[in-house]
Amino acid sequence: MHDRTKTLFIETVGCQMNVLDSELVVGSLRRQGYELVHEPTAADVILFTTCSVREHAEEKTYSALGRLAPHKKANPDTVIGVLGCMAQKDQEEVRRRAPHVDMVVGTGQLARVPELVAEVQRTRVPQYALSLGRSDGGKQSVTASFESFDPPRDASMRPTPFQAFVRIQIGCDKFCTYCVVPTTRGPEQSRHPDHLLAECRQLANEGCKEVTLIGQTVNSYAFDHGDGRRTRLSDLISRIHDIESIERIKFVTNFPKDMTNDLLDAVRELPKAVKYLHVPVQSGCDEVLKRMKRQYSIDSYREMLYRCRERVPGVAISSDFIVGFCGESEESFGKTMDLVREAKFKNSFIFKYSTRPGTKADDLYPDDIPEEVKKRRNNDLLQVQNANCLEDHKSRIGHTVEVLVEGPSKVGERQPPGLRQMIGRTMTDHIVVFDGHDRLVGRTLSAKVKEASPFTLFGDVKTGEIASGDLVAREAEPVRRVGLTII
Ligand code: SAM
Ligand code: SF4
Repeated sequence: MHDRTKTLFIETVGCQMNVLDSELVVGSLRRQGYELVHEPTAADVILFTTCSVREHAEEKTYSALGRLAPHKKANPDTVIGVLGCMAQKDQEEVRRRAPHVDMVVGTGQLARVPELVAEVQRTRVPQYALSLGRSDGGKQSVTASFESFDPPRDASMRPTPFQAFVRIQIGCDKFCTYCVVPTTRGPEQSRHPDHLLAECRQLANEGCKEVTLIGQTVNSYAFDHGDGRRTRLSDLISRIHDIESIERIKFVTNFPKDMTNDLLDAVRELPKAVKYLHVPVQSGCDEVLKRMKRQYSIDSYREMLYRCRERVPGVAISSDFIVGFCGESEESFGKTMDLVREAKFKNSFIFKYSTRPGTKADDLYPDDIPEEVKKRRNNDLLQVQNANCLEDHKSRIGHTVEVLVEGPSKVGERQPPGLRQMIGRTMTDHIVVFDGHDRLVGRTLSAKVKEASPFTLFGDVKTGEIASGDLVAREAEPVRRVGLTII
C-alpha cells in the first residue's frame, strides 16, 4: 500500500515560550514523518499552542476550534489537539466547549505529543496529559510534573535559522495577583548550564547567530550545582559569549527586583550582549503595585532604571503595563502616565486588565474599571509612549548603527524577491528598515539612519551590494511567521 505523507498544521497564540513550544513540537512530529502544511483542513493533525494570559487570547482559540467542528465531523480521522497554557488550566472546559478535541496536553507534558497523537489514531479515545496543579501535591512532586521540553532543535522550523529562542528557565514563582502563568507553567526551574551550552553550540553549528534566552523572570535564573557552586544569568551569558559564531545574546523578560549589578556589568562588558533590557513595571502607582503583588515600589523601580543606565551606558529599556487593574483611580493612572513621560522607555507593551478566573486578583478585587475607561487609558498611555519613541528615534537620525538583517519587511514581502524593503534590529533592539537584497539576510551590516517614525528607523545600508535606494521608505511591520498570532 502507498504510504501517504502525514501532515500537520499548528497555530500559535501568545509569547516567545509558546513560539518555542510550537517549534519543538513540530520538530518532534517531523521526526515521525509529519510534514507541515499551512491550511488546517489539509492536515491529518491540527494543533493549537494556546495562551491564557488574557481572555481575548483564549476566545481566539475557542473560535478557531469552533470553526473546525464541521471539518472534524466530515473527517473524523483528523486529530485535533489543544496544547499549552489553556490545556493545563482548563482541561475540562476545553472538552466541554470543543468536544471534538482529541488531545489536551499541558505545558509540562509536551514531550508526549507524538505518543499521544499515535494513541488517538490507534484508539480514537481522547487523550489528556497534564501536570499537577500548584496545590495538588508537595513542592517536589508538582515541580517534577512540569518537565522542560527541550528535544533536539530543528533549524528548518524557525522563521530564520540564524535566530533562536533558548529556554533557560520554566515556570514562575512570583504569583502576581493578576497572572495565570504560575498555574499554567508551574514552579520556577532553571535548566542546567551545561545543557544550555550544548544547545547553544548545536544552534551555532547550524548557523544560528543570535540566541534569545527566555524565561518568565529570566534574570532570576540560578542553577545550584549541589556542591556549593551556583551559575547566575551573568555567568551563563559569559559562557555562551565564548561560542565563536554566536554574535548576539539577548534575554527576556526581567523582573525589576532581580536586576543585579553582576548582570548589568556583564551586559556592559560583553560585546555580544544586546544592550536592551525588557523590565516590565506594570503600573506607576505604589498602591496598584501592592494589589498586583509586584514586590517593589516605584521609587525602587526608578532606582533600578537609574542603575541600569549608569552601569550600561546607552542601554534601551522597555516595559509592559496593565491599565484598568482593579481599583485603578484616575490619580493612580496619572502616576503611570507620569512614569512613562519620565522613564523614556524604548517601547511599552500596554494591556487592558483582563480578569482571570483562579487568580488572587479575581478572588479578591472586583474588576471595577469599565471597558471604555480601560480603552481610553490604553490609548492615552500609548500616545505618550509613541511621542517618546519618536523623540528617541529622531535623536538617532544621522547615526550609524549595526543591523542584524532579519528578512523582508511586510512591505518587502509584497515586493518581488531581489532588491526590496528589508528589516533588521540594532544592538539596542531598535527596528531598522532599509532597501536591501535578500542575500543580506542573517548578516550584520552598518546602516546610517536617515528618517524616523515612532515605530521604525529608516536607514541606508553601507554596502556595495545595494545598487540604489530607489524604493520609498514605508512603515515597517514585523516579519510574518507561519501560523503565529501574537496577542
Ligand atoms: N513574566 C513576565 C513579567 O513578569 O513581566 C511577563 C509574562 S506575561 C505573559 C506578559 C505580560 O502580560 C505581563 O507583563 C503583563 O503586562 C500582561 N498580563 C499578564 N496578566 C494579565 C492580565 N490578567 N490582564 C492583562 N494583562 C496581563
Ligand atoms: Fe506572571 Fe508575575 Fe510571573 Fe510575570 S512575574 S509570569 S507577570 S506571575
